Amino acid sequence: MIVAKSFFPVTMFRTSLVLLVSHFALTGFAAASSEFEKRCLAFEPERYIKGATRNVLQHVPAGTNLTFPDNDATCGRASQNVSVGLCRMALEIKTTRTSKISFEAWFPEDWSGRFLATGNGGIDGCIKYEDIAYGASNGFASVGANNGHNGTTGVAYLDNPEMVVDFAWRSLHLSVETGKALAKEFYGKYHTKSYYLGCSLGGRQGIKSAERFPDDFDGIVAGAPGVDFNNLISWRAHFYTITGPIKGSDFISKAAWQTWIHDEVLRQCDTIDKVKDGIIEDPTLCKFDPTNLLCGHNITNTTNCLNDNQVQQVQKIFSDYRFPNGELIYPAMQPGSEINAVDKLYAGAPFAYSDDWFKYVVYNDPTWNASEYGYDDAQAAQDLNPGDIRTYPSSLPGFKESGGKLLMYHGQQDNQITSFNTNRFYEHLRGNNTYAEMDEWTRFFRISGMFHCSTGPGAWVLGQGGNAAQAGIPSDAQHNVLAAMVDWVEKGVAPEFIEGTKFMNDTVKSGVDFTRRHCKYPARNTFVGGSYKKPESWECRA
Ligand code: CA
Repeated sequence: MIVAKSFFPVTMFRTSLVLLVSHFALTGFAAASSEFEKRCLAFEPERYIKGATRNVLQHVPAGTNLTFPDNDATCGRASQNVSVGLCRMALEIKTTRTSKISFEAWFPEDWSGRFLATGNGGIDGCIKYEDIAYGASNGFASVGANNGHNGTTGVAYLDNPEMVVDFAWRSLHLSVETGKALAKEFYGKYHTKSYYLGCSLGGRQGIKSAERFPDDFDGIVAGAPGVDFNNLISWRAHFYTITGPIKGSDFISKAAWQTWIHDEVLRQCDTIDKVKDGIIEDPTLCKFDPTNLLCGHNITNTTNCLNDNQVQQVQKIFSDYRFPNGELIYPAMQPGSEINAVDKLYAGAPFAYSDDWFKYVVYNDPTWNASEYGYDDAQAAQDLNPGDIRTYPSSLPGFKESGGKLLMYHGQQDNQITSFNTNRFYEHLRGNNTYAEMDEWTRFFRISGMFHCSTGPGAWVLGQGGNAAQAGIPSDAQHNVLAAMVDWVEKGVAPEFIEGTKFMNDTVKSGVDFTRRHCKYPARNTFVGGSYKKPESWECRA
């Protein structure tokens, strides 16, 4: 893993120091490490935090493959490579009499003075060790938590409303307070600036924090934010009622979605941006018409075709989801995402997160049946708003006035949360303000060709988290969203675009395939000639 340099002066100093002394004074560095190790092992984090008990205190040398034998298997995180030396502390902290969080703080030996909190995903209780490690490797005193329960399912929410409050906002806020206090005790001084990094549910957590605890962060990087959460859950539940079960006579197969339906989407929309590259730069311009695929519609279309019912299914999927009175529940799925959306949302089975949320949170009734989902369920979720989880502020006055900066990004082929909702949320937040006024504190970048938070055919590597590919890109504000946020907060230099990187086969060592500059909303990428793989062949235009 390459250590970030441009937004991490301490590491640069340390790196050159190591190079300088390595010939003749290696033992001196070893002694310094051992001093850090001693300080780490002598630290008593539980002393400073009310309701805390210690699970782990360990010194982690650089290059360790850290294992988590007790971690819930559904989280899929049995181990984590750690590239820098750090002190790891894991605590259990009570949030109420009946609820608690598992908290992790990873404090690097080479501390930049910055603090970073990381988010979660889905409806889960999974600590994103990769994001904590990413933060620590870039010099941040980094924290994360399990959001109140372990594993990816929602079963534990049954009869446990306090756990839902932890999930909605309390776990993150407590982690921030705990992490900041521990950093001060551990390093002997206050952090300089406080940051947040999260995607999906994690994007929502960041925005909730800005709404409810405007002083927790100076800079929030919120990817694919799952805002308007109750309606997001309902939107995801409604696909099963459109597709029906996998054995139904009109069920559209996964193969169909991934081949000829996706091909038709691209045929209609790929070249709106003038470049046939399998990437739709701005899917709001794609008005996909599935009637072209109707059986018998044209003579070339006799086998790979849809019947009337199937055409209607596709039309519904790509339409806004509304109550019968016209009120919007959630915006349409954006075309282009179907190759992955079919895995979960159109799979002909209840979507697990929605199913669990209705069963164990909204109704507290495991017998609730996803195949009978309807408008009354969407209304019930909205009305209950469990744990105040909605997260759909029309302004963030406290955050804005204290100088907070919000950077949102969203993959334009997102297969789990339609990116159209972030366009909508940005405009909701903007209200009567001009785009220039918004630019002062909130910027939104649309990442073409990116699926949910990462991967996809586009230039999707942008420093958004602990994926291994992040190590292959320059750690500067142009290429890395976290570095961009640091420059914005600390130098007042705000990003105009984010230049994403696509590696060949998504493998760093295979080299860069292309990069592309993703535009700040509402501008969109416009091809201006030359090789489409060169960033200068595109311009962001309103
Ligand atoms: Ca294109």
